[in-house]
Amino acid sequence: MRNVSAIISEIEQAEKMLVCGHIMPDGDCISSVLSLYRGLTWLGKKVTPAVDWNIPSIYLNFPHTEKLVHYSVNMELPDLMIVVDSSSPDRIGRFQEFLKAGVRTIVIDHHKTNTDFGNINWVSPVYSSTAQMVFRLLQIMDVNYDRELALLNYIGIATDTGFFRYSNVDSSVFEDVACLVKYGADPGYVARVILENKKLEEFYLERDALDNLKVRCSGKFAYSFLEKWNFDKYGLSEDEFSGFVSQLRSISTVEVALFASESSRGEAHISLRSKSYFDVSEIAKTFGGGGHERAAGFTLTYEKGLQEALEEVIEYISERLEEK
Ligand code: AMP
Ligand code: MN
Ligand code: MN
Repeated sequence: MRNVSAIISEIEQAEKMLVCGHIMPDGDCISSVLSLYRGLTWLGKKVTPAVDWNIPSIYLNFPHTEKLVHYSVNMELPDLMIVVDSSSPDRIGRFQEFLKAGVRTIVIDHHKTNTDFGNINWVSPVYSSTAQMVFRLLQIMDVNYDRELALLNYIGIATDTGFFRYSNVDSSVFEDVACLVKYGADPGYVARVILENKKLEEFYLERDALDNLKVRCSGKFAYSFLEKWNFDKYGLSEDEFSGFVSQLRSISTVEVALFASESSRGEAHISLRSKSYFDVSEIAKTFGGGGHERAAGFTLTYEKGLQEALEEVIEYISERLEEK
């Protein structure tokens, strides 16, 4: 809590702030950035919300998402940068330039692989989501929650817990979410927008991903992949197709699931999930990424094909899984 007091005093002193999330943004990232933006604006601060990446189209249904700015070389340096849900500097894209320029930085995050790259770091893996940490911070700062802020703040807690199903759910999640629902967040609406809003083409992609599904280690390890041409075929981008990795984990025998999606030639995003004992954040860290024990990821770069490059990763994970 010492860090929280330090964060509050930094915020009180700053005029112009930038609140920044991670590249390839997910619900927690978007929710944390926009909740802080709305909360701190309500306190009279000048705040720019930012993510140096495109926003997945389903999230554009929520208020203020159009305000998330990208990095620009002409941008004025803020007095303070608050980085949320990002475990290392490379996760914030070109906003790393602000770190290099010496902008005072606060990091708020729940990833256990966080490298503590801010001047003040509030990093706590006990929280389900960064959005839950933002909720606690704004409560301490006596921010008034209207329906819109409640909705924005709710999104990150819901999405990072798989809509209250994952092992990061504890009683504090329900307590905090109960407050947000009382303040006006509508769980049914959020679930509809995020879970029941699929494009038909996503099903075709799922069919391709199912065709590529393989299991190893007596069924304990399931993996699949999609190459760039699969996405091109249906006119979808790689960030419009997520969630397949959790489907792989749902196979009864599976402990570890891996899904690879090729974003451009020579580069793929790798998503890792585990069910009850295997720490996938360690694997992700080895390959230059990060995350949590049960959900982690990294970027795989390669010269030849994805399938060949993936073989090495599959082998590495299989060996470690067999040891357990
Ligand atoms: P994903 O599989 O993309 O849903 O990511 C699962 C978790 O791993 C999330 O908490 C991400 O923040 C984290 N993660 C994914 N990719 C990376 C990466 N390249 N570097 C660090 N963390 C990552
Ligand atoms: Mn995230
Ligand atoms: Mn998160």
